[in-house]
Amino acid sequence: MIFVTGGAGFIGSNFVLDWVSAGAEDVLNLDKLTYAGNLENLRSLDANSRHSFVRGDIGDQALVESLLAKHRVRAVVNFAAESHVDRSIHSPGTFIDTNVVGTFRLLEAVRGYWSQLQGAERENFRFLHVSTDEVYGSLGPRDPAFTEENKYEPNSPYSASKAASDHLVRAYHHTYGLPVLTTNCSNNYGPYHFPEKLIPLMIVNALAGKPLPVYGDGQQIRDWLYVGDHCSAIRRVLEAGRLGETYNVGGWNEKPNLEIVHTVCALLDEMNPKRGGGSYREQITFVKDRPGHDRRYAIDARKIERELGWKPAETFETGIRKTVQWYLANGDWVQRVQSGAYRDWITQHYAQP
Ligand code: NAD
Repeated sequence: MIFVTGGAGFIGSNFVLDWVSAGAEDVLNLDKLTYAGNLENLRSLDANSRHSFVRGDIGDQALVESLLAKHRVRAVVNFAAESHVDRSIHSPGTFIDTNVVGTFRLLEAVRGYWSQLQGAERENFRFLHVSTDEVYGSLGPRDPAFTEENKYEPNSPYSASKAASDHLVRAYHHTYGLPVLTTNCSNNYGPYHFPEKLIPLMIVNALAGKPLPVYGDGQQIRDWLYVGDHCSAIRRVLEAGRLGETYNVGGWNEKPNLEIVHTVCALLDEMNPKRGGGSYREQITFVKDRPGHDRRYAIDARKIERELGWKPAETFETGIRKTVQWYLANGDWVQRVQSGAYRDWITQHYAQP
């Protein structure tokens, strides 16, 4: 059995769905169900005995240790985190609690469990930590893309908290020999993405006739990867990654934010034309930039491609088309997400111009 944390979130739930459909091994999913955790993402697994869910905190060391032992877990994949940069600017405390202290407690639980294992069980055990390219800081326009050799220069409370967790994971390998793997991935997009992040926010606001808020000049560059490709990279690293190594994951798709918004609008114009005519682009509104906004991220994915033979299945064009189609077909999911805390957050922090 594998143990996934944060498996009710965006990437975690996509990973769990893929893992169960591949059918090889059972999965135990531990998630605190913060505002970002949505068990509805896993509704199709309700009657599937290969997936079991426990609501809990990665920081609850006793709970984690007992679950690992009870289920004789052979690998842990850690997705659980606070993940939204804007939220980290307004309330950094929860990012430190979960991403730093929570990861530390999780590592302690895993170390306790792993130290009791023997023989092949000990040999085959893995702890895979899912992280971000944001730990490397911001690139200039002509800088080469981030390799695994880049030094860490996190600029937001989110990226600093993820950087701290990466360092803890590394230290548990070097100090205690814990068999760890770390992946640092670029921006993901795809189904079940909480509509506070750029792509789903633009789709949802466009369809609701609301402004499409673009930070600053919209020329911040991100490197985009379809979530299913991130999941296949994690599976590959878990299967064949070298212990103690980090692997950058990306699809060589650098795009300025404004271009992303234009692409989303063009796809919506094609798939769901506005009733009164015109383009969704008319809803674009430039808003004050995020403080400390990194200008450019780009991932050099040659190590995972060369060593592990991983390649993304989607291009940006195919992935973004699938994503827009998914949101158009799943308006009920969006509607249920758009309640309570989410709505409060949107009205508080995305002021209508
Ligand atoms: P998300 O915010 O959608 O999901 C996070 C999940 O973790 C939620 O289900 C939440 O309930 C759960 N969680 C939060 N705190 C917890 C705690 N203390 N204990 C247990 N569960 C907890 O995030 P995501 O976008 O799916 O990201 C998953 C991981 O991938 C994160 O570690 C993130 O840093 C990393 N990552 C994300 C991206 C991206 O573009 N979204 C890119 C690279 C790396």
